[in-house]
Amino acid sequence: MTYQNYTLEQLQQIDAAHHLHPFTDHKDLRDAGSRVITHAKGPFIYDAAGNEILDGMAGLWCVAIGYGRDELADAAYAQMKELPYYNSFFRCSTPTPILLSQKLAEIAPSNMNQVFYGSSGSEANDTALRLVRWYWALEGKPRKNRVISRHMAYHGSTITGASLGGMQGMHDQLGGAVPNIAHVMMPYAYELAQPGESDHDFGLRAARAVEDEILRVGADNVAAFIGEPIQGAGGVKIPPASYWPEIQRICRQYDVLLMLDEVITGYGRTGDWFAAQSMGIEADTITTAKALTSGYQPLSALFVSDRVAATIVEKGGEFYHGYTYSGHPVACAVALKNIEIIEREGMIERVRDETGPYLAKALKERIEGHDLVGEVRSFGFLGAIEIVRDKATRQRFQPGGSAAVLIRDHAIANGMMLRATGDTMILSPPLIWTKETIDMACDRIVKALDLAKEDLRNAG
Ligand SMILES: *Cc1c(COP(=O)(O)O)cnc(C)c1O
Repeated sequence: MTYQNYTLEQLQQIDAAHHLHPFTDHKDLRDAGSRVITHAKGPFIYDAAGNEILDGMAGLWCVAIGYGRDELADAAYAQMKELPYYNSFFRCSTPTPILLSQKLAEIAPSNMNQVFYGSSGSEANDTALRLVRWYWALEGKPRKNRVISRHMAYHGSTITGASLGGMQGMHDQLGGAVPNIAHVMMPYAYELAQPGESDHDFGLRAARAVEDEILRVGADNVAAFIGEPIQGAGGVKIPPASYWPEIQRICRQYDVLLMLDEVITGYGRTGDWFAAQSMGIEADTITTAKALTSGYQPLSALFVSDRVAATIVEKGGEFYHGYTYSGHPVACAVALKNIEIIEREGMIERVRDETGPYLAKALKERIEGHDLVGEVRSFGFLGAIEIVRDKATRQRFQPGGSAAVLIRDHAIANGMMLRATGDTMILSPPLIWTKETIDMACDRIVKALDLAKEDLRNAG
């Protein structure tokens, strides 16, 4: 790579002139100039201005095993030399997706033994929607095709992903969503529980919003419910423990399929291979991507339950669906090595037994008492910090989200990559963080909160 021949300013100019970015206000980006990340090692990223930043987001929720893993580069190199590409269409296959499928079936919940590959979470959700609707058609119920999702859900950015998702801003730009998808309330107790309502009762009420929708349109018209076990991009919303068992009960009672989107929660983040296992949920499809390769290659795997797979195989004939890069040999080689490393280094057990509980404790003891913080919450290695003007009334700063962005900018300037979603700061560290890394992160977050508090006080 010869980017070293360019100055940072030159790279920023070229970027602004020719590169349209995802989820970006381009006028804003062109005024400010992009932050150019040039290299990374372990838990740190480095930008072209020479700053070292602790990556509290694992890239974009994906770099589970940290940066700079030669073994993944070597696996990709070896596979590229031997067979860089061949497809899995027309009765062909290649060795790495075959062996990855075996491994994934081994670690998945026991009712899931088959996977369909794509290159992104959005593609996997597109496949999942097609599969569940086709399943019901094959079962003689073509009208059972509606899907229930939640407000603020994130299921990707293609038209299907955005339609399944519950982000109003995305819907407004779609010019027509995929039909027959409804959105109900999310299990977000901090904002939506009534005064005096227990977490348990709120969880049941949020789940029963799904039942209400099933009863409203008729169970014969509802194919599936889709949900992230913990809503990620929507603000790390961790449902009360009563929520998922009640959702499971409702799905079983009305014979509605359960689609889990584990694109963030999959591969160790919750202290198990999958959140389905952490929360005891039995699903019909599970969408995974991100940490499947730790982001070193683009790859998604959609798990399909034995029930759905049996119908597809027995009654379906050809599935007119697939991607050029389904089962890409290089991406699958990298995924195999990534999973081997997660296992070999005991990362999941460490998050479950040691670092996850330590992160929870550190957030409670060091962050929750801060004047700007209304609540902290975490599950495994997913965390959230609610930013408020008034702790007691939970009143937010105006305009919405502005205080969180201020904190984020102070955090980055002080060597800590964090994200702001609305009035919530979110955290999704690589699974390799140690107790010392968590302490370092908390030091930097406290500093950012203090600096923001000063700014906000000066602004009145
Ligand atoms: C990131 C994400 C997706 C979309 O994945 P892409 O690879 O960006 O298409 C889908 N669902 C969830 C929960 C995600 O976090």
